[in-house]
Amino acid sequence: MDGGTFDVLVVGGGINGAVSALALSSHGLRVALVERHDFASGTSQESSCMVWGGFKYLESRDLKLVAGLCDSRNRLAKAFPTRLAETRFLAAMDHGAPFPPWFASLGAVAYWGLGRLATQPPRHRPTETIERLEPAVDTSLVRGGIEYSDYLLVDNDARFVSELALQSTRHGAVIANRVEVMAATHATDGWRIGLRDLAGGRDLEVTAAMVVNAGGPYVPDVGRLTGTTTEHRLVFSKGIHLVVPQITDSGRILAFFDDHERLFYLLPMGERSVIGTTDTPVAGGVGHRGGQVVPARADQRPGGSAPAALLR
Ligand SMILES: Cc1cc2nc3c(=O)[nH]c(=O)nc-3n(C[C@H](O)[C@H](O)[C@H](O)COP(=O)(O)OP(=O)(O)OC[C@H]3O[C@@H](n4cnc5c(N)ncnc54)[C@H](O)[C@@H]3O)c2cc1C
Repeated sequence: MDGGTFDVLVVGGGINGAVSALALSSHGLRVALVERHDFASGTSQESSCMVWGGFKYLESRDLKLVAGLCDSRNRLAKAFPTRLAETRFLAAMDHGAPFPPWFASLGAVAYWGLGRLATQPPRHRPTETIERLEPAVDTSLVRGGIEYSDYLLVDNDARFVSELALQSTRHGAVIANRVEVMAATHATDGWRIGLRDLAGGRDLEVTAAMVVNAGGPYVPDVGRLTGTTTEHRLVFSKGIHLVVPQITDSGRILAFFDDHERLFYLLPMGERSVIGTTDTPVAGGVGHRGGQVVPARADQRPGGSAPAALLR
């Protein structure tokens, strides 16, 4: 990488950096990708591993957005059939749900249609069926529900991202972890980028016609290094998952509405179940302790009392 000349330097080895490197290199561009920690060590290892078409955005009637997201989801599922698994989502709706089950069923059919019928069709699920399919759900407050399909990463998010980054090397991309972008200046022949090899303790330099800022929550910091500004601003938010002993072995994702009519999920993860997530605004940037966002005591009850009320 040192002294190299590239068409594109991608900064950040999360999902956006990895997929940028793969897409650009597979189109014949000379690509370098640098990540200052390890690939997928940031936000991209903290996700719920769902690959979804944005069911919840139907609430704001943004059909174009949902159709676009479903299209991306379908293309990803087709490109990585062994990495993405179609998974059934069962949404049980109690009085806290913002709409009745019959209306949600209409939404699920619309979602299936916007997804070009690429998955199994959705189904309305009466309370008795939910009781039978998922005995862990306390149906005493449930009015009915819907079952529909989206996708889940078969392994996990970090592995998926790392594989995409590695795959880009087959198209000639040069990738490095533990390498941080320290400075960037724009000259007539493109960008001169100063890098720090954190493992080897030495400085490197590359030139690139273009820089892709895939810094995730650090996009503004990378933007400051390159001197680029946009009118867009990041709004920071923290999400917490609760990992508990396995609640259901059906493989389904269970979905519930919390006390604030927000959807949260019970996700399968090997011999565990994962409940989440919260979505708490974080003022002023990424909350840190050694680079990690950390849970607080108040995060321990996503959705207030909802998980306790709807699970036996
Ligand atoms: C709780 C939670 C649940 C989620 N669930 C889902 C889900 O189920 N499905 C879904 O699709 N999305 C989900 N998301 C969103 C998804 O995780 C993020 O959109 C995605 O991971 C963002 O990836 P990124 O590549 O933009 O950023 P990141 O993964 O944060 O990567 C940015 C990288 O840039 C690196 N970097 C920064 N500055 C420099 C520098 N100067 N030099 C070199 N490297 C640098 C950082 O070290 C970091 O690794 C979830 C998010 C959260 C928080």
